[in-house]
Amino acid sequence: MTSEHLPKKMRDLEIKVVKPEIWNFEVIKGKDAWREVVYSARMSGVPPQVKDRSVFRMIVENDYSSALEHIIIKFDLKMSKGNSPEFLEHRMVSHTGYSTRYIEVSKGIDKNKEAYEVILPFHLIKEKRDKIGELLYDSVRNSIRSYKEIIDNGIAREIARYVLPFAQAVGVYHVTLNLRSLINLLSLRLCVRSSPEFRCIASQLYFNLMRELPEMKGLTGCRGFMRGVCPESNVTGVRTGKQHPLYPVCPFRFPDTEIFIPTPKELQKGMKVREFNREKALRVQEANFERWMDWKL
Ligand SMILES: Cc1cc2nc3c(=O)[nH]c(=O)nc-3n(C[C@H](O)[C@H](O)[C@H](O)COP(=O)(O)OP(=O)(O)OC[C@H]3O[C@@H](n4cnc5c(N)ncnc54)[C@H](O)[C@@H]3O)c2cc1C
Repeated sequence: MTSEHLPKKMRDLEIKVVKPEIWNFEVIKGKDAWREVVYSARMSGVPPQVKDRSVFRMIVENDYSSALEHIIIKFDLKMSKGNSPEFLEHRMVSHTGYSTRYIEVSKGIDKNKEAYEVILPFHLIKEKRDKIGELLYDSVRNSIRSYKEIIDNGIAREIARYVLPFAQAVGVYHVTLNLRSLINLLSLRLCVRSSPEFRCIASQLYFNLMRELPEMKGLTGCRGFMRGVCPESNVTGVRTGKQHPLYPVCPFRFPDTEIFIPTPKELQKGMKVREFNREKALRVQEANFERWMDWKL
């Protein structure tokens, strides 16, 4: 696992640097699953003259979301130990996870061979890459060495695991959720304010969803894109005020553009907005998702 993004010292390692990863993404009932939503909408009285595709779009756009719960999605997910609690905060998601009590972290069903897998964002280090990268790596390696040594001394894994680092790629889950919950998760985690690792995971989910349920094209994205109004205000300067230098810039924050998405506060102050170019906004956000998904090793 060598690359220009790894600090020199890390280019030949016993510890494996891996990416946050989604696999086995599946929409139950496949590409026609959206018809489940139409079926339930008809049950509630949507008349036959409204075409099926328009019914589906209307349900998503108007947020009549209980009908979306009939679409079930499954996937497997690998992320850092540190990102796991963030993922598990999405309570309307069912998950079964890798046990660090019963399995040594170098083993597991997703592994072809024994390896201490870690997720480290070296590609996001802009300055002093070798120095900071080596510091990160040395800390992680020391933790894993201690873990191994504690186990080699006959101590239980459930005790040894207390020394594992945030970077350990043990956040391995089998996940089941419905489309309503996935849209909610994406709307929160495809935002520039979400953490880099969660943006990487959410971007992979987004493109998997577009491939497996193309009817969703243009219907999902960050909360601003979904609602036409962005609830973020000036936290970390993401919408107004001074932008935090390390955070990505929100493409929808600039009032003089045709993809400007106002905040409620801006609207309440009487700000005028131009006609919104949805096609362009979709292209711009997808370009961001492509970048975020590309977690370089
Ligand atoms: C940029 C960002 C920063 C964040 N920072 C923090 C942080 O500093 N600390 C922190 O703890 N979390 C933080 N979070 C997590 C956030 O508060 C949510 O817990 C997480 O995003 C899950 O969203 P959710 O509750 O909508 O999803 P789910 O838990 O899947 O819930 C889906 C929906 O169900 C409803 N719901 C679920 N549970 C309840 C309930 N008990 N009562 C009423 N309605 C419910 C809500 O409508 C909710 O939107 C952050 C999230 C983001 C995106």
